[in-house]
Amino acid sequence: MSFRSVAIDGPAGAGKSTLARRLAGELGFLYVDTGAIYRTVALAVLRAGEDPSREDQVVPLLDGLDIRMGYGSDGVQRMYLSGEDVSAAIREHPISGAASQISAIPAVRDFLLDFQRKQAREHDVVMDGRDIGTVVLPGADVKIFLTAAPEARAKRRLLELEQRGQEADFDRVLQDIKERDWKDEHRDIAPLKQAEDAALLDTTGLNLEQSCDRLLSLVKEKIAL
Ligand code: C5P
Repeated sequence: MSFRSVAIDGPAGAGKSTLARRLAGELGFLYVDTGAIYRTVALAVLRAGEDPSREDQVVPLLDGLDIRMGYGSDGVQRMYLSGEDVSAAIREHPISGAASQISAIPAVRDFLLDFQRKQAREHDVVMDGRDIGTVVLPGADVKIFLTAAPEARAKRRLLELEQRGQEADFDRVLQDIKERDWKDEHRDIAPLKQAEDAALLDTTGLNLEQSCDRLLSLVKEKIAL
């Protein structure tokens, strides 16, 4: 039996996870947030007291990593590190930068490749990340490249952080987003870029409902539901 897949890639704060989760709900597919997987590796590296930018410190940790993914009764993806639920811990500020650093290490990407592909071998999935349409699932039934202007993305991220009760400053969030974009777009391996056969969806100026509608119609053009 073959499963269907929707790949959603794009820069930080473009609304990928919110939209991908909604889409998965509409389609009845499993939502896989691959950023959360990279974040879990980053958390493990920081907890081990190693430097996430140092390949020689990160690579030796990979063999002993016990990372698992599960779904709560609410259907929300949860990440486990050595059995501990780290779903909240991976959202804290220092983890974003560290995830971006470890994600530029080829051995880390290799290590996570099969982990991600396995989900698509076993379920219909909506998977979001940076290289899903280009590397992880090049044969995905639908590929979407989701983006928005950096300022729009920073505004949304700020709101999200505030809703979680975390203090944040617009300029800092914007700078953070720009730095991450740059790093993700310029790394040698699996850089963030639109797959040739991906549809572009720019959500600058669109609200959540409008973005959702556009996304759903793009998907319906490709998958018979
Ligand atoms: O999507 P999110 O912001 O949670 O991802 C955290 C970091 O993980 C990104 O900045 C990116 O560097 C990395 N990542 C990646 N490939 C993916 C998903 C995330 O390199 N498929």
